Amino acid sequence: MANIKLKNVHSLLNYIICFFLIYIQYMHSAIALNNSSSHLKNSPDFLPFRKPFDNIEKIIRTDNFRSFDLDKRNKLYTNAHNSISLVNIINKIILAQDNLFILESKPYNIVLVDNPNLSRTTGAAGKDYVIIEGSLKKNIKDYTRVISHELIHRYIGHIIEQDNDKKNEIKYKWFFEGFTEFYGVKTLLDTKLIDKDEYLKIINITLKEYFNSLIPNIDFEKTNQKHLLDQNISMLSYNKGFILAMIIDEKLNEVSNGRYNLLTTINNIISEITSKKVNFNVDLFASHLKHYLPESLIKDIIASIRDSSILLSLLPSRLLNKNLTFQDTDKYSDICFNLTRSLELQKIRGVKLGSDCHNMGLKDGQELKCYSIDFNSGNIKLKVLENKIPKVIHLKANKMTSSIPIYK
Ligand SMILES: [Zn+2]
Repeated sequence: MANIKLKNVHSLLNYIICFFLIYIQYMHSAIALNNSSSHLKNSPDFLPFRKPFDNIEKIIRTDNFRSFDLDKRNKLYTNAHNSISLVNIINKIILAQDNLFILESKPYNIVLVDNPNLSRTTGAAGKDYVIIEGSLKKNIKDYTRVISHELIHRYIGHIIEQDNDKKNEIKYKWFFEGFTEFYGVKTLLDTKLIDKDEYLKIINITLKEYFNSLIPNIDFEKTNQKHLLDQNISMLSYNKGFILAMIIDEKLNEVSNGRYNLLTTINNIISEITSKKVNFNVDLFASHLKHYLPESLIKDIIASIRDSSILLSLLPSRLLNKNLTFQDTDKYSDICFNLTRSLELQKIRGVKLGSDCHNMGLKDGQELKCYSIDFNSGNIKLKVLENKIPKVIHLKANKMTSSIPIYK
């Protein structure tokens, strides 16, 4: 489980990553759109990210939820007033998604919580349910996007359920979450819940968020699970996977003249994993591309999972009749230590001699206990241990111009 934000590109983290525990391990997939988190305290939140997830029955009984029969024996439970339009939206999404995947989906309980006090939409998917909470009035677009994302987990989630190694879920978040997000958004386009311009806008925001990130190459195999509470880190794998899915889908379409696409591959992966009861991994993923793409390209695709510059080089030059261009943006990216390595190792690395970091007492090898990084202002706060003595260091990154890809 993790969350991402959709709006306010590079807006900040609102909390310090420190001693938070993740309780929600068995809730494999959640997404949060829109970064501000001003809840009013008097109304209950059904999707608290730091509380164990209770059973659906209890939630439904807590408030005045009404139930509706959806297509394909799915059920909707909601407290929303405009539930009829919701029924229509979800049925559209369910039917479109069921047509994409070969695997039959079991009926799901779909719980939609309308909470007018929330300014962001969150969602989670389990074995036989999805639950989404947010303000329908404030964010109907985001809400719909989260519904579509969580419902894609009905299929991609099967791979995780199959998986015995829970670490895989984090390691391959680019696949489990990024590809889910890609198909979630694609469903909205297919069902005309968004148009091509909105689709392209989502792609451009995703590109901007990913390629503007200070830590695009952070290694998820090395990061601590608590890091995933950091939206700036957690969203990276969503964005990376989305971009990768888009690239592979385009390439497959191109080489086959539209005869097959990424979905062909995903369906094959799902059926291999579910029938042979094997775990998802990069080799398995690559083996399914081999029938369709040249070896050198597959090599680049796999390398791009670790290296954002390779990912950038693989972007199609044209997408939905728009050309790939580059745009200069300023960002706080000049940092006087190696942020990626330090986060991966939980130890400070790469402090530049004579820099602000150095003058403030930051030293290579210090244990990194907590951090908060605001990419919007360049403010960085670190708590490090030196000879077991905690020390808080405030730093400011300098602005640098960088070039980000955009379809125009
Ligand atoms: Zn998800």
